[in-house]
Amino acid sequence: MITSILHKPSLTHANIVQLLEANEEDTKALFAYAAQVKEQYIGKKVYLRGLIEFSNVCEKDCYYCGIRKSNKKPKRFNVSDEAILSAARFAYEHNYASLALQSGELQSPAFTTRVERLLYKIQDLSQGTLGVTLSCGEQNKETYQRWKQAGASRYLLRIESTDEALYQKLHPNNSSHSFHQRIERLHLLKELGYQTGTGVMIGLPFQTTTHLANDLLFMQNFDIDMCGMGPYIVHEDTPLFQYASMLLPLQKRLELSLKMVAILRILMKDINIAATTALQAISPTAREQAVEIGANVLMPNITPGSFRDDYHLYQNKPKSAVIEAQDTEHPQTAFFGNAEIGFGKCGDSPHFFKKQREKQSE
Ligand code: SAM
Repeated sequence: MITSILHKPSLTHANIVQLLEANEEDTKALFAYAAQVKEQYIGKKVYLRGLIEFSNVCEKDCYYCGIRKSNKKPKRFNVSDEAILSAARFAYEHNYASLALQSGELQSPAFTTRVERLLYKIQDLSQGTLGVTLSCGEQNKETYQRWKQAGASRYLLRIESTDEALYQKLHPNNSSHSFHQRIERLHLLKELGYQTGTGVMIGLPFQTTTHLANDLLFMQNFDIDMCGMGPYIVHEDTPLFQYASMLLPLQKRLELSLKMVAILRILMKDINIAATTALQAISPTAREQAVEIGANVLMPNITPGSFRDDYHLYQNKPKSAVIEAQDTEHPQTAFFGNAEIGFGKCGDSPHFFKKQREKQSE
């Protein structure tokens, strides 16, 4: 019975595969237990990160992604500094307490300096109170250091798949898409003191539950602080689209994604787990479900409206409604699913600070 697995002090690869393949009744038990773990370790809470997708200019050519370099269809954009800062001010004034800045990947002195300058300005406009997560891909040590110094405290770099052979099916075989370099960058981020996040896409062609179980064990062994993972959704102008007929139906991909969230919550009880936007591309209420069974971070998209269509990673990408505290001086309690929104609280990863305290007491 699945309940005997759920209560084990640690889960084996075989246990995780069994949970990922659980039938409807066992899935209910998995979700109920994960919800209980979340409530015990995190509380019925969800924290906000105002998401600003500030540029779709990308040097990479990932086979799944709509903003890959070789796709000539999207109009390439850079949101102006002014508009980014105005979105940041919106998040600050509406008590979001945190931002996530995401972009395509560029490795250039101009890009490094631009992001650094924006980070300093964001600190200025919020008197150093806005938490900032960056998700700007692989960069060198100096760049990561400069961005941290300028105020970014969290970094999300998805490994996409921890299976090297599968990773290679998803990316061109060249040095700018190296599996080992991506893992090395994750180590670098951790070493530099970022709250470090990773994640994978779920329901990819060629992906099995064995791969997904290994992905979860990778996250546990790496001792991540945060996770952003969600379903793979096709984009017709990408090379991976040719395998669309191999994919699980969308509802099954959604169910598998929710199982991944629930199992990760059981494996890593006090990390931050995002209810990602791609879930919403399958069902308008999928993020609420994710929050009920383990996720505790929500990323409302506050990218200026005129640019939202152009950050087109996959089909049916939602525009995402903005959540507001009605009164910024007296933030009101609001709920998302069954979770209380942590307006005014930046919602750092409890796991990260627990590790810090343990290090200090050594
Ligand atoms: N360039 C940065 C990087 O490489 O980390 C961040 C931007 S990238 C567009 C953000 C994430 O979008 C990727 O890590 C990937 O997991 C996700 N993504 C891209 N295409 C997707 C698709 N077709 N379905 C689901 N997620 C996708």
